[in-house]
Amino acid sequence: NQQVVLNNYVTGFPKQSDMKIVESTVTLKLPAGSTEVLLKNLYLSCDPYMRLLMTKDRTVGTGTYTLASPLSGYGVSKVLESGHPDYKKGDLVWGITKWEEYSLVHSSQIRFKIEHTDVPLSYYTGILGMPGMTAYAGFFEVGYPKKGENVFVSAASGAIGQLVGQFAKMTGCYVVGSAGSKEKVDLLKNKLGFDEAFNYKDEPDLNDALKRYFPEGIDIYFENVGGRTLDAVLLNMKIHGRIPVCGMISQYNLTQLDGVTNLANIIFKRIKMEGFIVNDFYHLYPKFLEFLLTHVREGKVVYAEDIVEGLENGPAALVGIYTGQNVGKQVVHVALE
Ligand code: NDP
Repeated sequence: NQQVVLNNYVTGFPKQSDMKIVESTVTLKLPAGSTEVLLKNLYLSCDPYMRLLMTKDRTVGTGTYTLASPLSGYGVSKVLESGHPDYKKGDLVWGITKWEEYSLVHSSQIRFKIEHTDVPLSYYTGILGMPGMTAYAGFFEVGYPKKGENVFVSAASGAIGQLVGQFAKMTGCYVVGSAGSKEKVDLLKNKLGFDEAFNYKDEPDLNDALKRYFPEGIDIYFENVGGRTLDAVLLNMKIHGRIPVCGMISQYNLTQLDGVTNLANIIFKRIKMEGFIVNDFYHLYPKFLEFLLTHVREGKVVYAEDIVEGLENGPAALVGIYTGQNVGKQVVHVALE
């Protein structure tokens, strides 16, 4: 059973050598009386929060990985054996599994059974899984969008950002995305339907860039990165603007967080800035899935993924999301069904 284990706790940017590929033996049989579920992992998801679990003494959120144990994370898996009545051999599922070929998990780790397989299975690590649900909940339930509003999205070509942009267009909003390369900017404008996009690394002053794209100000800023982007956004929000705070990836590798200096704008502009966690919104999953599957099947929502082959290439792929190597949702393909 090939596994990706944590080699050491991480300070600063993660490196491939912070993880190690090891081989362990596995019995592909459930212990007698077990209520657990034995999975064959097919796709694993590289998610930004995983870096936080590599920090020994976290100050944001809770939980850490255990040294020399496989990383945990979202994935798509096939049930090999089940001691739980809700699952049976051959079922396809998505939820929390481990970075290894075969995993024994508690049934509560499984989020949902996969019933629709006419779309790629990898989609359940992204557009039809946790990141998709995050984009949907954050934009519609926290952002309160209205037709005609101005929307700005950071990390816009990533798993979540690309969907937020498309949801904004469906709602009749004007939407601009920022991303870290020309390739990503082209993707946003030519494939993902954003009205405008810019490379934040090419902008000496983000405040100037935002004034150029939003001369009348921003109604909704979908926050994925934090730091200097947030600081510039605060200067460009409209009165009664909303900021759903989804993530702050620019801060996850810093030991000293970037100071945000323009926070007082929240008062004068009556901004509603609200953090949210996807876990609080899974009751909406059936409604979300029906809505999105229809749009995906009709080609009305498009989706960019970046898939690497082989568990052994997982550490490089995971490390890459913190420097923006991924173009679209980063996935690791572990095995065929
Ligand atoms: P992405 O697929 O967008 O991958 C991460 C991207 O972040 C990179 O490709 C890179 O794109 C960008 N990035 C990396 N470092 C920086 C930096 N220093 N400054 C600016 N951009 C950076 O990730 P997701 O869509 O999966 O996640 C987006 C955000 O949502 C993250 O902050 C994540 O933690 C959060 N999240 C929150 C959840 C919730 O429940 N609240 C659930 C899931 C995710 P680029 O080249 O454009 O810089």
